Amino acid sequence: MTFSTPRFAVTIVGGGFAGTALALHLTRLAGPLPLDVALVEPRAQPGPGLAYSPALPELLLNVRPRNLSVWAEEPGHFADWLARQPEAADGLPEFTSRAVYGRYLQQELAQVLARPAANGVCISHYASSAVAAPLLSDGRRAVQLESGQLLPSNATVLALGNFPPPPPTGPTSAT
Ligand SMILES: Cc1cc2nc3c(=O)[nH]c(=O)nc-3n(C[C@H](O)[C@H](O)[C@H](O)COP(=O)(O)OP(=O)(O)OC[C@H]3O[C@@H](n4cnc5c(N)ncnc54)[C@H](O)[C@@H]3O)c2cc1C
Repeated sequence: MTFSTPRFAVTIVGGGFAGTALALHLTRLAGPLPLDVALVEPRAQPGPGLAYSPALPELLLNVRPRNLSVWAEEPGHFADWLARQPEAADGLPEFTSRAVYGRYLQQELAQVLARPAANGVCISHYASSAVAAPLLSDGRRAVQLESGQLLPSNATVLALGNFPPPPPTGPTSAT
């Protein structure tokens, strides 16, 4: 698909659930949408993020499959996907593992990373952390990667998840 208008650059920093869901949903908006989306996520596989990366199968989701579709307009999407997986060989589990949900997110995202979406949105994964957001001379911000590479961005989304808690403070000597 070609466009006569300039392409718009969106950078999503963080490829856990929130960043992934945003990237996916951009590909289903009505087009044509001349958007180049850079998904910045240091994990080799974007999608699962912190909550859905663990490999241990005994770490379960606290939500049933029918309520976990990444597509609001297709509420059964995750359950239907799960029904085709080895983990559902004996029937759909009431609660499945967080790692399985991570694989679902990863696979959904892999499809939109592989080729431009029908609406014109192109998504690329940058396997790096963002370290700064300098102002460019044209008034835009860029997202700077650890390598020093700059991603000039018309819009930047921070989908960083939760930060680690600060270390506990010691007892005070308040009077
Ligand atoms: C252990 C655990 C279990 C959970 N279980 C459930 C559950 O069963 N059901 C449920 O509904 N919810 C659950 N949650 C809630 C869960 O956190 C949210 O549902 C959702 O996954 C949060 O997604 P997020 O994208 O905001 O954050 P995250 O998944 O944390 O994603 C943030 C991403 O940002 C990336 N990042 C951070 N800094 C940078 C940077 N500088 N540059 C680039 N990338 C960066 C990180 O690598 C990370 O992948 C759980 C949470 C945790 C922690």
